[in-house]
Amino acid sequence: MEKQTPNTTCNDRLCPFHGQISLRGRNFKGKVIKKFPKRVVIEFDRTIFVQKYERYSKRKTKLHARLPDCLKDEISIGDYIEIAECRPISKMIHFIAIKKINNSEGEKIQ
Ligand SMILES: [Zn+2]
Repeated sequence: MEKQTPNTTCNDRLCPFHGQISLRGRNFKGKVIKKFPKRVVIEFDRTIFVQKYERYSKRKTKLHARLPDCLKDEISIGDYIEIAECRPISKMIHFIAIKKINNSEGEKIQ
């Protein structure tokens, strides 16, 4: 998996760049809708096929992701970010924010 190490460093144990945790599984891109200390919530659209009407329906997915200390100043609400799956860190968190993507690129995803 491709890793782009941020310029800053941190002492976060659960940081994929400076800590011990490894990333595996799936990646998602989405818009940050909430920010907490060490955690962000992202939201993105997905389409599902409805057989009865033979059409696609748009649903939203929300995912909680850990925010490493080295990215906490860079990422704020409204930004588009990429998250990667890791082992479950807590009941809700099994993703880590890995990088910010620029907004024009992010709007294409939505
Ligand atoms: Zn870090």
